[in-house]
Amino acid sequence: MIPPIASRFVAGESPAVALEHVRRLNDRGVEGIVNLLGEHYDDRADAEADADEYLSLIDDLSNSELEACISVKPSQIGLSVGEEAFREILERIVDYGAKRDVFVWIDMEDHTTTDATLGAYERLARKHDGGVGVCVQANLKRTREDVERLADVPGKVRFVKGAYDEPADVAYTRKEEVNRAYRELLEYAFEHYDGGIGVGSHDPEMIDHAISLHDEYGTDFEIQMLMGVREDAQYDLAEEYEVWQYLPYGTRWKSYFYRRVMERKENLWFAVRAIAGR
Ligand code: FAD
Repeated sequence: MIPPIASRFVAGESPAVALEHVRRLNDRGVEGIVNLLGEHYDDRADAEADADEYLSLIDDLSNSELEACISVKPSQIGLSVGEEAFREILERIVDYGAKRDVFVWIDMEDHTTTDATLGAYERLARKHDGGVGVCVQANLKRTREDVERLADVPGKVRFVKGAYDEPADVAYTRKEEVNRAYRELLEYAFEHYDGGIGVGSHDPEMIDHAISLHDEYGTDFEIQMLMGVREDAQYDLAEEYEVWQYLPYGTRWKSYFYRRVMERKENLWFAVRAIAGR
């Protein structure tokens, strides 16, 4: 069972509960990005097992009326085994998603994985002329160049600030620098992309900035937030904009929950309050 402390951020253990959560979101105008929790598998069999579960999830979504897609982690589907394993397993998932009309997002992990992740994304986005998206992190100094290169790739790009502790030679480590980089990346994307911009942030200032850029350039975008974070804002924004909620499920919730607490200590307090209020 997911302990109450983490259940604010994790939909449950089984795909059925995750889909039920998506159904409730859809009723309120929010779409779902479903992620099976898991990362850093060095055994290919574990990566293949999660890939199998993603294929079954794709079937479930495709057979339903739900507005939802999936999001996978590179180290969950082979990158910790090797690049070749990652490319093969990701291709299996993205090919199947394309066949069943279910969009596949690729999460981004720490900076040592960026080249492999972007390379695999680009190849599959070109193969399917879209149908797949990747996450880029504003805290990495390299990201501006990546975002310029990705402008010609036919997929979607999710912009986030970055959830991993990175060394100062590759990353901005001060909040103001990351915020400035995030704004500038959005400015570039709204001006140069044909659409497919995912604004993956809970920050009201960044969301307002994206909305004003959308008003200026007319570029299509979607707002993406995590389960358990500013959910009222998600429902309010969904009255006017496309809003997606990223919802993880599964038994391996510990490192995901830890990241949420590390990026904002109040998240622990919210979780404790939620238990107290039960
Ligand atoms: P922060 O800089 O953390 O906060 C800015 C402001 O937002 C706060 O001052 C507050 O006003 C508001 N806010 C933030 N959190 C809360 C809260 N809990 N309650 C109330 N208000 C709050 N990172 C990766 O590295 N790789 C990924 O693949 C990835 N995928 C993601 C997918 C989605 C859909 C989202 C939303 C995030 C993802 N992230 C990913 C995490 C991201 O990098 C950030 O760590 C995380 O979103 C926190 O940054 P922020 O922009 O939301 O705002």
